[in-house]
Amino acid sequence: MKERKPRIGVVLSENPVILEGKYIINSPYIKAISRAGGIPLLLPAGASMDGVLDFAGLIDGLLVPGGQDVSPLLYGENPAPSVGYTLADTDRTEIALVREASKRGIPVFGICRGMQLINVAFGGTLIQDIPSEVPGAICHRQNMAVRSELTHEASIKENSLLSEILGAGSMAVNSFHHQAVKEAAPEFSVTAHSADGIAEGMESGDRRIFAVQWHPEELIDRYPVFLRLFEYLIKLAGKGGS
Ligand code: MN
Repeated sequence: MKERKPRIGVVLSENPVILEGKYIINSPYIKAISRAGGIPLLLPAGASMDGVLDFAGLIDGLLVPGGQDVSPLLYGENPAPSVGYTLADTDRTEIALVREASKRGIPVFGICRGMQLINVAFGGTLIQDIPSEVPGAICHRQNMAVRSELTHEASIKENSLLSEILGAGSMAVNSFHHQAVKEAAPEFSVTAHSADGIAEGMESGDRRIFAVQWHPEELIDRYPVFLRLFEYLIKLAGKGGS
């Protein structure tokens, strides 16, 4: 066990579509890490690959947050008409960092786009647009609801890491996505689903990488159970050998 608190890297996006010349991160991610007992360390992984792999030497754990759509080119597809804007170079940088973290045995937790990016990083594919590709899909974009509102159920698979952290069975979650994991990457399995079969959680076979499609960082004030996801990342990070 390390003497100091584990350092949790958070991928910062350089997102010229939203704000030119700035790095952007939603503060609830940072606050969740602090509250769960980690030191948040912001990692500016923009469109340039320069130095990004060096970040892996500074961190004990990695959080990959939400954001824009992952470029379909990175999983061998062209974009459907309903795909939002994409930043393929930024995706590549973040994918490189995720792979480097994994190579070094640094635990990784993905949220929303983070889950999708991790899946693509290790060879999985995505549903590009749920409403147009999945007949009978429920609403996964609660755009009119506040961020901390629980809007649909997710069923968590028994004997999964996710069930160890949150409990197996059904729990209500929030939802701000139109894409989702389609085929899980090799060595990964989908460990939570919504009622329409959309992947809501995923983990690696060695349980060092886990992800959820909802936004737990927005829920911890009203529903403290979701803080456990961050606490688990920090627990794994505290046991790391780097
Ligand atoms: Mn959802």
